[in-house]
Amino acid sequence: MLRFSVFLVAISFILSGSIPAGNPLNAIEFTGTDKVLPCTDSSLKSLNEVPSLCSDDEISPYSARLLSHYITYASVTGNENQAGIFISNVARQKGFHVEILTDQPGSFNFTASLYPLDKKKPNVIFLNHIDVVPASSEPGIEYTYPPFSGTIAEGKIWGRGAIDNKGMAVMQLLGLEYFLDVAAEIDLPFNVTMLSVSGEETGGYTGAKIMVDEFLDYLNPVAVYGEGGSGIPGIIRREPDRKLFGISTTFKRSLWLELTLKNNTSGHGAVPPPDYVVKEKVQALSRLLNETRRISFCATSRNMFRELGKIEGGARGMALRNLRLFRPFVIRSIKQENIVKSLLTNTITITSINSPMAAANQIPQEIVSVLDCRLLPETTTEDFLEHIHDILANDLISIRVIHEKNIIPPTVIDAWYYYMREALQMVYPGAGVIPIIAPASNDNNYFREHGIPTYGIMPVFIPVHLLETIHNVDERIPVEALEQGKAVYRELIRIIIESKIDQSAI
Ligand SMILES: [Zn+2]
Repeated sequence: MLRFSVFLVAISFILSGSIPAGNPLNAIEFTGTDKVLPCTDSSLKSLNEVPSLCSDDEISPYSARLLSHYITYASVTGNENQAGIFISNVARQKGFHVEILTDQPGSFNFTASLYPLDKKKPNVIFLNHIDVVPASSEPGIEYTYPPFSGTIAEGKIWGRGAIDNKGMAVMQLLGLEYFLDVAAEIDLPFNVTMLSVSGEETGGYTGAKIMVDEFLDYLNPVAVYGEGGSGIPGIIRREPDRKLFGISTTFKRSLWLELTLKNNTSGHGAVPPPDYVVKEKVQALSRLLNETRRISFCATSRNMFRELGKIEGGARGMALRNLRLFRPFVIRSIKQENIVKSLLTNTITITSINSPMAAANQIPQEIVSVLDCRLLPETTTEDFLEHIHDILANDLISIRVIHEKNIIPPTVIDAWYYYMREALQMVYPGAGVIPIIAPASNDNNYFREHGIPTYGIMPVFIPVHLLETIHNVDERIPVEALEQGKAVYRELIRIIIESKIDQSAI
């Protein structure tokens, strides 16, 4: 439990004297409404209507109740429209400039901005996604509360999307809301837009991809803050309780492979031939699993360790800051940390092994397996395929690429990174912040591919056991974390305003 009310702390930051004297912002009161929207019939979900946010719950903060209601729209990928209509209506009612950029079945994408997009101001984008993964209903899987109930209990909001990614939308929207009055009174030299998109969970083709393909000029982004790392506990050895936030600036790209082995051997299991497809495949895959993955450092990971070393201090810190000198020592310690190791190696996960359904005593003639490979930013597909082929050591196995993400240059750390770092440290005093490699691709990369500074961070500190509920049973977020995340976005905008207010352009 944290010992302070982040909400009050954040308010005091916002209203503190940190805004320079003479700055026109001093004349403006930063206000947030935090009011509950009026109840209407929840069955009326038209564009002109904000469905009910009626709740007898007078204790939970508005953010919790808003998220709770947002979760009740079961926006599994392809079914985002109702949820998108709801949250865009909330934004419109609060006074945001809302534009619905696409409204096709399964592709609802909208913006909520301080200024209309057609003003073409340089735009800071807060990116989130409306869709969620399905809630498994397999026998034996039991939820504490139904996954689309949005139950508020035990100080948490429960349900699919609570963390990934509806909670982040609520933090962004309510953080941004505080600046609606400011934007109305001062013609800020930039816009801030919350962009909510569809289809992230299945590759972004119905959301972020359309946004960059068709609306990039209109959105005019100068920086994007999307989902990514969050607060991580226990990384700083010297101070295990100290919070550490990772902001992703690049990612490990996915490469999915299908391996097929065919061989016409005799078909009866009673007399096993020396070689048959199942045996050969199992042997080849085990060579793949047993191979020692080479740890390699790219520019981002070197930077990650350098920054971590500064925070860590002491002998370990010195080793992390000077990888060249202390490489064997660092590699030895990395090998014991599974998550860190996965960020520094090309990983291979066997996700399926299939042969045609047949009788138990029948030897199949074909076996197909699928590998989910995640490649370091500098590894080319060509080199990796050659490596896989060598390890499998079986020329009869054909390798087919079924999906791959492009190599995209990492975001080079600039002022936008430091704004977020400062905002995090305002809300979480003493927290460390480092750049990291995201273990998987997400919508951020569509923007990064266009050279736009793009940072991946969910600005909340959530214990690992709750992070593990993402895409899992009982996804939930503490109310306190939601409020803290909101405060980070509010700090971020305040910092950006302070930095940019005297500049005519950014
Ligand atoms: Zn997500």
